[in-house]
Amino acid sequence: MSTNFLDLACPGIRDLKPYQPGKPIEELEREYGITDIIKLASNENPLGPGSMAIQAIKESAEDVWLYPDGNAFALKAALTNKHNVDADQITIGNGSNDVLELAARVFLQPGTNAVFAKHSFAVYPLATMAAGAQPIVTPVFDETSSQPYVIDFDAMLDAINEQTRMVFVANPNNPTGTWADSATLYDFIKRVPENVVIVIDEAYTEYVDNPDYPNADKWVNEFQNLIVTRTFSKAYGLAGLRIGYGLSSPELADLINRVRQPFNVSLVAQMAALAALEDREHLLKSHELNTKGMRQLEAGFSRLGLEYIPSVGNFVCVKVGAESASIYEGLLRSGVIVRPVDNYGLGEYLRVTVGLPEQNERFLVSLEDLIG
Ligand SMILES: *Cc1c(COP(=O)(O)O)cnc(C)c1O
Repeated sequence: MSTNFLDLACPGIRDLKPYQPGKPIEELEREYGITDIIKLASNENPLGPGSMAIQAIKESAEDVWLYPDGNAFALKAALTNKHNVDADQITIGNGSNDVLELAARVFLQPGTNAVFAKHSFAVYPLATMAAGAQPIVTPVFDETSSQPYVIDFDAMLDAINEQTRMVFVANPNNPTGTWADSATLYDFIKRVPENVVIVIDEAYTEYVDNPDYPNADKWVNEFQNLIVTRTFSKAYGLAGLRIGYGLSSPELADLINRVRQPFNVSLVAQMAALAALEDREHLLKSHELNTKGMRQLEAGFSRLGLEYIPSVGNFVCVKVGAESASIYEGLLRSGVIVRPVDNYGLGEYLRVTVGLPEQNERFLVSLEDLIG
C-alpha cells in the first residue's frame, strides 16, 4: 500500500492551492509553437532594468563565488537614507514575498487568524494557511458604489478578534489596482489593536501620482506594530533577481530576522538593487511610460465599450464578461499573455500589465478581434 502523504502534510498545507504565476513566454512558445510573444501578465517593467543596475549585475558576476553579505550592509545604508529609518528597522527579503512569508511565520500558527480584504494579493492567504492559521476575508465596496473594489476598512476592523495576529493591506492592491488615501489608511492603522501586526504592502508605490496617496514608511517610527514592504520587482525592473524589503520597528525586524535564511538575498541582487536606487532617471522614465500606457489602455477600453477597474498601478483589470477564459485563450493564440483573475473572484475580468506603447496597441487590437 502506498503512503498517503496528503494525510501526513500539515493541516494548513493540505488545503493550499499553489500560486498561479503568469504564463512564461517560453511555455507559450513550447505549447503553441508560436513566436513574437508579448507578456503583459506579471506586472513587470516593460523597460527592463536600468543601465546602472545592468552594469552592477555584470560587475558582480566575478564575485559570486563569495557568500553575499547576510546583513546587506551597503543596501541597508542606502535604504536608511531613503526611508529615514535605522538599519535595524530593515529586513531584506528574497522578493518582498519573502518578507510577507517570514512575518507570517513569526506571528501565525494554528488557532490564530489573519485578516485581509477580498480580491487581495494571493500571497496573503497562502502565507496564512501555510502557517496553519485561518484567513478572514472582508468585503470591499461593490461595483455599483462610488469606490468600486476599494477596501472597506471598517469591515476589516470589525473582523479583528482575539485570535487575530496580522492584517494585510496592499496599497495599491493587486489585482484590482485600487488604493487607500492617506487619512483613511492612517485612521485604520491607528484603530488596529497594538497587538495585531499590520502589513502595508507597497509593491507598486513608485507608480502612484495622487497627492492623497500615502507612503506608509513615514509611519513605521510611530507604530510599533507596522511593517511596510517594498520591492525591486516592479518599477525597478528586477523581478528575476528576487529582492525586496520590509521596514518596521526594530522589535519586529529582530523577530523576522530570526527566521530569515542567513543568505536569503543573493550578492548580485544586492548590488543591482543598490545601483537601481541611484538610477532616478530610469525610475522616472518607467513611471512616465506607465502613466501614458495606462491612459492608452483606458482610452482603448472606452473605445471598445469595456468597463475596467480604475487602477493606480502598472496593471488594470478589464471586464470582458463571462467569456473571459476563451478571450484569454484567444489572446494567447495571438501571442499576447495576460492574466486570468478568476482565482481572485474576478471571473469576468482579465488583468493586463501596462507595456510599451506598441505592446498595449497590439493587445488592444487582439482584444478587439476577440470581442468584436
Ligand atoms: C508583485 C507583488 C509583490 C511582490 O513581489 P516580489 O517579487 O516578491 O517582491 C508583493 N505584493 C504585491 C501586491 C505584488 O503584486
